[in-house]
Amino acid sequence: AKSMRGNQYRLYRDNMDEANDKWLLLETKLHQALKKDLLELHYQPKIDLKTDTIIGMEALLRWYDPELGHIPPDRFIPFAEECGLINDIGVWVLGKACAQAKLWNESHNLRLRVAVNISPIHISTSGFVDMVKGVIAGTGIDPHLLEIEITEMSMLDYTEDLINTINQLRALGITISLDDFGTGYSSLNYLKKFPVDVLKIDRAFVRDIVPEKSGIAMISAMISLAHALNLQVVAEGVEEEAELNVLREHGCEYVQGYYFSKPLSVEDFTNLIVQSFTN
Ligand code: C2E
Ligand code: CA
Ligand code: CA
Ligand code: CA
Repeated sequence: AKSMRGNQYRLYRDNMDEANDKWLLLETKLHQALKKDLLELHYQPKIDLKTDTIIGMEALLRWYDPELGHIPPDRFIPFAEECGLINDIGVWVLGKACAQAKLWNESHNLRLRVAVNISPIHISTSGFVDMVKGVIAGTGIDPHLLEIEITEMSMLDYTEDLINTINQLRALGITISLDDFGTGYSSLNYLKKFPVDVLKIDRAFVRDIVPEKSGIAMISAMISLAHALNLQVVAEGVEEEAELNVLREHGCEYVQGYYFSKPLSVEDFTNLIVQSFTN
């Protein structure tokens, strides 16, 4: 029995070492990617359903590693949160997205609002608001054209500090969105306490719209709830015209999704702007 355990232990050790190596490799690579500007932002348009025009865009991280290939953000963001790189990534994304939005707006005479995803870990860091002020000053972006998306998860261990931070950001003119709404564990009670401007209804609910009646009831209830709380609504992951129609019918203000456009490279988004705003 003793030697058995010994074997098991060795097996365990080997697995651990392997996991450790992978971890270290990924951490080194992500660190390098950040330092050498190998991360890239793609932008997905947000559409105003009243006017059918682009009112802004969400910045989404892309990481291509020559050896590892494309690594999706769903995989490396949680990793970055664990290994402590997430704050540096957040600062980089914010700076990059604000500079790009400023450039697009100036060269095409627009007022598009850029949305940036910020990790709950990062936003809870002291000095976050000052950092954001620094980015605003450095890029010259109008803070009214900046939106910060935080996931519902952030609300889970909400503190007075977090509410304070959100209030300070809003006082600067920044829009705060609650991302992935409906998927977390937050009670409706949190919604009342959290000073957000926008609810982003998760794709999981949009997908359920058609043909299920109960799906429509859910969406309709979520939109009503948002409006009752004076919040705007964005539906995420709209892929079908039928989904769009239901959302429109129930008064959803904004949509994002493949139906209109996938997240686009800077070059492709520039083309989309030119195509959409010149006639
Ligand atoms: P998210 O913030 O909920 O972003 C929406 C995700 O849905 C994006 O995946 C987007 O490409 C995808 N999507 C958009 N429209 C559709 C659609 O019609 N159908 C389907 N099936 N998917 C659609 P992506 O880019 O892979 O990002 C995944 C997640 O990674 C994001 O979810 C966000 O939580 C995180 N993430 C991405 N970029 C950043 C970043 O810069 N910072 C942080 N902290 N997190 C990020
Ligand atoms: Ca988001
Ligand atoms: Ca989302
Ligand atoms: Ca998500």
